Amino acid sequence: MSAAGFASPGGEGAPGGRSQRAASPLIGVLALQGGFEAHRRALERLGAGTREVRVPSDLEGLDGLVIPGGESTTITLGIEREGLAAPLVDLIAGGTPVLGSCAGLIMLDRDHLGVMDVRAERNAFGRQVRSFEADLEVAGIDGGPLRGIFIRAPWIAEHGPGVEVLAELDGHPVAARQDNMLAVAFHPELGEDDRVHRRLLALVGERLAILAGDADSHLQR
Ligand code: GLN
Repeated sequence: MSAAGFASPGGEGAPGGRSQRAASPLIGVLALQGGFEAHRRALERLGAGTREVRVPSDLEGLDGLVIPGGESTTITLGIEREGLAAPLVDLIAGGTPVLGSCAGLIMLDRDHLGVMDVRAERNAFGRQVRSFEADLEVAGIDGGPLRGIFIRAPWIAEHGPGVEVLAELDGHPVAARQDNMLAVAFHPELGEDDRVHRRLLALVGERLAILAGDADSHLQR
């Protein structure tokens, strides 16, 4: 059993007769541009299966989704070109857990996919302040501060009442959650700390357990 609570591929499987799919969830990583490969590696180290998402049919059967960092303008053009906006919104609005990091946070906001009630300010730390690291206390993530790697990062300039701010830097929200959506302004896929990906996989596990419970109660009726 991996530390994230999922059986690793080829492992002994989950207890209680859960399906193999629940034991090893399938996480899509939007792979139009940007840092998708490092997210795949981080998720696979934690025992999840991954799939690169480039066209709408790649979204079928996913248990979770990551929208990586990169260049939000380029990712937006790719989403338009591939007709991915509506299927992505449907998947996320349907409750599938999603992690947006850096440009991925921007993609979730009001002005892009419009699923999260936030407005991201692009390059908010200044274009000249390209990259830096900072220790962050992130609500819901135990084990001490997390080393955030920021690369031309946004921050959350505005947010609605349904959004829980999980971490701030210089008084600005840089990590937030709204229902099934986690958004961070930094790059959790770089470096050794896998706690943000674990948090996503925990949300995925909770949702799969609820869906499995619903299916059981249907069968018993
Ligand atoms: N500055 C980029 C943008 O606005 C985001 C940078 C990143 O994802 N590392 O799209």
